[in-house]
Amino acid sequence: MGKLIEELKQDIQYQHGMNACLNCGICTAVCPAAEVYDYSPREVMNICHQEDEEALIELLKSDKIWYCGQCFSCTPRCPRGNSAARVILALRRLSIRYGYFAESEKGRQQLFAKRVFGENLLKRGLTLLATNITPQNFPELGEFWEYYFEHMKEMREWWGVPMDLENSPGSHRIIPEKDMEELRAIYKATGALELMEAIEKGMEKKLGSKEEVEKYWQTWLETGDSRNYQLKKEKEEDK
Ligand code: SF4
Ligand code: SF4
Repeated sequence: MGKLIEELKQDIQYQHGMNACLNCGICTAVCPAAEVYDYSPREVMNICHQEDEEALIELLKSDKIWYCGQCFSCTPRCPRGNSAARVILALRRLSIRYGYFAESEKGRQQLFAKRVFGENLLKRGLTLLATNITPQNFPELGEFWEYYFEHMKEMREWWGVPMDLENSPGSHRIIPEKDMEELRAIYKATGALELMEAIEKGMEKKLGSKEEVEKYWQTWLETGDSRNYQLKKEKEEDK
C-alpha cells in the first residue's frame, strides 16, 4: 500500500467517513455540487476505495476535491454509513500537506481561505469587523454589502456598536487575549497552523517565488478573480 493511502487512512475523518463503498451513486444523486460541476462524490469514494496511489495523487492535484460545499447531504443517505463530506476533508488536508493543492485552480484559492478567513480568526477570533471583506473582492455580496461597507461607521453608530472593538458588545466585541491564546493553541495542536504554512509554501513552490505569490494575491485583490493571474506555463503557451 502506498504512503499517501496509508496516511489518508490515519486521518480520523477518513476513518469515520469511509466504511465499504458499494459504488451505488446515491451520494452523487443528492449532491448539489454534482449538479453544477464536473464532480461526483461516488467517483471520489471509488478512487479512495481502490487504494491506488497514482489515482489518489491525480485526485489530490485536481479541482474535484475543492468542489464539495460541505453540506453533508450525502452523509445521512449513504446505505453504508459513509460520509463523502468527511473523506473530502481528509483529502483536502493531504493535498495541502504535500503541496498538490497548488496544481489546480480551485486548490490555489486556498490562499484566500488562509489569508482572509484563517488569519482573521487568528487575529480576532469570530469578531465581526469585516474590513477585509471589500465589495471589490466580494462582488457577489451585492449592493447591500456595498452600502454597509461604505457607511460602516455611521451604521455601527446607529446600532450602538462602535468601531472601537474594545467597547463593542456581542459578536462585534474584542476577544480577550486569554481566549485568543486558547484559540491559537487549538490551531497549533490540531495542525491547522501547519496547514496554513503549507499553503504559503505550496504556492511559493508552484509559482516560483514569494514575489509571484504576492502578484497572484494582488491580482485577486485588484480584479476579484484569481484566474486573471497567468501561470508561467500559460504565459509561455501564449507566446
Ligand atoms: S459513499 Fe455511500 S452513497 Fe456514495 S456510492 Fe458509496 S455506498 Fe453509495
Ligand atoms: S457534502 Fe460535498 S459531497 Fe456531500 S452532498 Fe454536499 S457537496 Fe456533495
